Amino acid sequence: MLLLTPGPVTTADVVKQALAQDYAPWDNDFRAIVRKLCADIREVAGGTPETHVALPLSGSGHFALEAAVRTFVPAAGKILIPQTGAYAARLRRLASEAGRTVVPLPVGSRERTQAAALAEALCDDPRITHVGLVYSETGSGICHDVPLLAQVAGGLGRRVIVDAVSAFGALPLDVSDLPAVDAVVLTSNKCLEGPPGAAFAVCRIDRLEASRGNAGSWSLDLADIHEHGKTTNGGARFTPPAPTLAALSVAMDLHRQEGRAARLARYTVNQRTLYDGVRALGLEPYLPTELQGPIIVNVQAPTVPGWTLQGFVDGLKRRGFVISNFYNTEEPTFRVGCIGAITPDDMSRAVEAMGQALSELPIAA
Ligand SMILES: *Cc1c(COP(=O)(O)O)cnc(C)c1O
Repeated sequence: MLLLTPGPVTTADVVKQALAQDYAPWDNDFRAIVRKLCADIREVAGGTPETHVALPLSGSGHFALEAAVRTFVPAAGKILIPQTGAYAARLRRLASEAGRTVVPLPVGSRERTQAAALAEALCDDPRITHVGLVYSETGSGICHDVPLLAQVAGGLGRRVIVDAVSAFGALPLDVSDLPAVDAVVLTSNKCLEGPPGAAFAVCRIDRLEASRGNAGSWSLDLADIHEHGKTTNGGARFTPPAPTLAALSVAMDLHRQEGRAARLARYTVNQRTLYDGVRALGLEPYLPTELQGPIIVNVQAPTVPGWTLQGFVDGLKRRGFVISNFYNTEEPTFRVGCIGAITPDDMSRAVEAMGQALSELPIAA
């Protein structure tokens, strides 16, 4: 069975094999695995050991996003979040439930965040301290120009938190070039092609040290995770998802062998195969080609009566492919991920299976 969900993703066999073992998280051998893993993640982000640290946190991406917001946005701070889609809306919700004041910046559902609009909103409200940016908006499939937007925010004296969860490891990112970025958030189970259960924040060390006591939560305090790691040589405060971390360290070796740019190129061919393939089946992708990113394609649900997403999903599953069984855009669209240990050939077979699954639905009769 291949997962064509935008996380968790299909993993390589060697990654799955690393899960079939017990690990003692506080054992010195295991600590060495985690230290190396965090160094590898920092390197993919472009950070140096002097300036940046990759901090692991148990759980999914939302946990690390909340931790980044709590740690870096002071209780009296204000965070502007361009409303690019479902994931920006989630960032907005978790920041406001963490008690931070959120300023939403409206962005059309088929638009990229404009640098000029961001600059204007920041100039209008000098009390905005932070900007929260979603790199690859998994809700729609649009990738935003986060390096540019982060430069603009930094130029206006604001700090930045990047939700790179569905981008990290594929889209270009270099924190050494983006001094305004306090944290880049990512997880084990998207473009790094590991299993789910671990999240990370790549943080500036100086900002972590200046942000002690902000979080208002022990579990979600990145500054505390950093302090603990320093005094225990990379030890965890609480039980980590050890098999996931071990398997991710194997996945990072595969990432290094393939290279970030080659991984992005593979995902891009997967995406084009899917995009052109569904059009050939008579379906319409949600985004025009110029806005379509390489991570996930949304396809408009056929409007004919008799279509059910679940019926289609079940038909695909019988043929060996799993896609999301819920809608994430304001119009009904089905979502297909282009990431994970899958090739353009796998994607061609998936498109063929979509054609067969569609022909089985009552609408095609
Ligand atoms: C997957 C994802 C997240 C995190 O989702 P979790 O289910 O908490 O791992 C956050 N932002 C984006 C853009 C994502 O794609």
